[in-house]
Amino acid sequence: MLRTLILPAVEPPYLVVEIVAALYHLTVLPAEFGDDDLEAIARAQVRANRLDACLVLGERRVLAIDAEGVERRETEVPFRLFGHWISAAVTRRLRTARPLPPTDEVLRRQTALEAAIREYPARRAEVLRQRGMLPPADFVVGDLTKGGRDATPAELAALSGRQSNGVPMGLVVCADCGFWKGECLDPNAEFRGKVMRVHCGCDNWNRCAACGETLYPFRLNANYYDQREGAVVHVPGFSGLIHECAGTSRHDG
Ligand SMILES: [Zn+2]
Ligand SMILES: [Zn+2]
Ligand SMILES: [Zn+2]
Repeated sequence: MLRTLILPAVEPPYLVVEIVAALYHLTVLPAEFGDDDLEAIARAQVRANRLDACLVLGERRVLAIDAEGVERRETEVPFRLFGHWISAAVTRRLRTARPLPPTDEVLRRQTALEAAIREYPARRAEVLRQRGMLPPADFVVGDLTKGGRDATPAELAALSGRQSNGVPMGLVVCADCGFWKGECLDPNAEFRGKVMRVHCGCDNWNRCAACGETLYPFRLNANYYDQREGAVVHVPGFSGLIHECAGTSRHDG
């Protein structure tokens, strides 16, 4: 496997948040912080963002925390595509719960990381050319399956067709937020026979660690039902990267 050219540029400690399967958010953390403080930062990040994360503490010392908060000690970042050449990185979009001290040491590693991210597309294209491979288009996609799975015969029988209002069978209005929720067959012919989970607004648990507001109006890496369009809409994780805290014009965390 061709490792990315970004990762060697960033020294631990840092926090990796998986935005979608091939897009990772990196936060450079202060080297003078002890493990307890670093782990507290990582836990606060996961509690707010509700995205899988890994705290890289040092050589072969990784704390993996999944979106639910379940922790595992690892020797490597276990994300499937982390370090793969198709993956990409971003930084300084997800804020930490509390501002990090802008020490010279942090700024030096942050600057190196940002330079590596900037240079990555051109360097990757060059490495791929040397191997006779074509560089990929430079964009990241979300889960193109929308998390759908094949319907069982029983589900096909129960969920086929529409309710009198045109909404797919299986969806109900949430009494709390008014959006649809449940499981249904996707009305889009492209996903024929696929059962999709649909989340209402109450399920939106992805919050900014700094201000506590939701990162996006709907849950990330999940689907909602748009009644006007009659569509099961997938929200890729990177939709949450556009969040700006109220009262700030840019992110400093
Ligand atoms: Zn739900
Ligand atoms: Zn709801
Ligand atoms: Zn915010």
